[in-house]
Amino acid sequence: MTESRYFVVTDHPNGVPDEALFELCTDSLPELASGQLKLKNLWLSVDPYMRNRMDGVKTYIDPFELNAPMEGAAIGEVVESSDERFTVGDKVRHMAGWRDHAVVDANHVEPLPSYDVPLQAYLGVLGMPGMTAWTGLNTIAGLTGEDTVLVSAASGAVGFLAVQLAVQKGCTVVGTAGSKEKCQWLESLGVHAVNHHQSAEDIAAGIKRAAPQGIDVYFENVGGPMLDAALASMNDFGRIAVCGMISRYNDGEQPGPANIAMMLTKRLRVQGFIVLEHWEGYSDFIKDVGPLVQKGVIEYQESVFEGLEATPKAFLSLFESGAYNGKRLVKLAP
Ligand code: NDP
Repeated sequence: MTESRYFVVTDHPNGVPDEALFELCTDSLPELASGQLKLKNLWLSVDPYMRNRMDGVKTYIDPFELNAPMEGAAIGEVVESSDERFTVGDKVRHMAGWRDHAVVDANHVEPLPSYDVPLQAYLGVLGMPGMTAWTGLNTIAGLTGEDTVLVSAASGAVGFLAVQLAVQKGCTVVGTAGSKEKCQWLESLGVHAVNHHQSAEDIAAGIKRAAPQGIDVYFENVGGPMLDAALASMNDFGRIAVCGMISRYNDGEQPGPANIAMMLTKRLRVQGFIVLEHWEGYSDFIKDVGPLVQKGVIEYQESVFEGLEATPKAFLSLFESGAYNGKRLVKLAP
């Protein structure tokens, strides 16, 4: 009999969740039915969208059920299989995260691509966040090499790939981030960096110094004053790919951008997107970006938290601006 230790969330948070809202529980796993796998998780992903799932409201995704096992992307190793497609030792990506062991339907796991990269890259630069960057730039914004591009939260899991893909395409790229160290890393990647923890006017002034020609494509990750600054910086007929608004996730009652009328006067095209609705493009993404990551042409950063108990802390680190770098991960197995 295998036991699974898993996290539940016990109440809907008000503002930034308190770590005490997350409870670690233990249960025995059932015997495998036909077509199922028993997995030992090796790596867990924590992602900003999980905060919205804690509000008890259905959006494009169901909310987390209170006191039920939480979910999230994970890399697991098959330790028992009753499905002929998988054998013991296979590594797979799946959604039974926030726990150490799980029984899952084999139809709900993905075999990992075979690039020579660390396993956890398939949760970050070659996983959902990387796919989000690639989709937002190409499918949503229709990026060309002529564009001047602005990316907010540019040193984060989505942002660092977005800026590097845009630099590779020959674009002038401005990226915003929350600390001097993050801005220095962006500069080393060929990105003009601006700190986004300033007034909208000061962010806009920084963008203008970096790109006096104005912005054609804005990849939105942050919202709040950052969005005011971006709207003020856009060129006529610019495109905005609305990927996320992390500054709002703990704060439902923020005012909208004061200069929202610029969407009209500048004739902007603004489109929100959810990467899961574009997942059929994953094989093209991985063929495009996988070799670049394997060769080290694309750089990436991770903040690794050790042990299942650290999962809530890893998740909450996403909302601590400036403090942690790149993709947040939890490492379970030695
Ligand atoms: P990040 O790695 O960017 O992690 C969070 C970072 O956001 C922090 O390190 C911090 O960076 C910044 N941040 C946190 N709180 C604030 C705040 N109040 N104001 C300004 N910046 C803040 O996360 P991801 O790369 O995984 O996600 C980036 C965005 O993309 C999120 O909005 C997320 O919801 C969205 N997303 C959307 C998807 C979709 O399908 N549409 C899929 C995946 C992600 P810093 O220190 O630089 O301030």
